Amino acid sequence: MISFEQFSHNLASVQTRMAAACKIFGRAPESVVLLPVTKNHPVDAVIYADRAGLKAVGENRVQEAAQKHGQTDIAVRWELIGHLQSNKAKSAVELFDRVQSVDSLKLLERLNRQAAEIGKKLPILLQCNTGEDPNKHGFMVGEMAQALEQALAAESLQVDGLMTIAPLDDDLDVAKAAFIGLRELRDDLAAQFGVALPELSMGMTGDLEVAIAAGSTQIRVGTALYGARQY
Ligand SMILES: *Cc1c(COP(=O)(O)O)cnc(C)c1O
Repeated sequence: MISFEQFSHNLASVQTRMAAACKIFGRAPESVVLLPVTKNHPVDAVIYADRAGLKAVGENRVQEAAQKHGQTDIAVRWELIGHLQSNKAKSAVELFDRVQSVDSLKLLERLNRQAAEIGKKLPILLQCNTGEDPNKHGFMVGEMAQALEQALAAESLQVDGLMTIAPLDDDLDVAKAAFIGLRELRDDLAAQFGVALPELSMGMTGDLEVAIAAGSTQIRVGTALYGARQY
């Protein structure tokens, strides 16, 4: 695990990249939030984020997040950004402050039921498979309207917006197209259903600038903050 000093240095670099992108693309700096992704790093990654004043962390597995949760009592918000099996919906609802990776109708239904059971209104994002890659998680673009309809009808869920992971490709234009596609889809769905869907969670270490250009409101960054993942 890197030192806190190294982390602070990395954080400053990421914040500089964000500020530069906001300036170039005419975005207000406070319109894009940085979510530090602490997956595959020890609990220190969460502690560093908290010490630096960041309010939330992203984790991709229930079990790993639960373990870190048990190792610290600091009050950060925990966001789930990885695929969730519906049989783990109960633990996820208990543990996480938001689930960004809602990728099936079955999962939606389970999360709603489990949230109702503990009297929680669970914020969620709908994950869109913008690359239409059958090996990746997320609703296909053509399934998003039905997913949103069901999510809006789910009384114990609160739909904050949409999330996507760009297709893996050295050509940044591929990510750019995916992000612009998600923003346009959000605009269409918001108009169609008469809801705001303010959150657009898109952009990671390698493509945060094109995400900010396309309208991202939250970038999820691991490697640029914490270095290569350890396990
Ligand atoms: C791991 C992960 C990230 C962070 O990726 P980096 O390239 O390390 O910044 C962002 N989003 C999701 C969904 C992830 O699983």
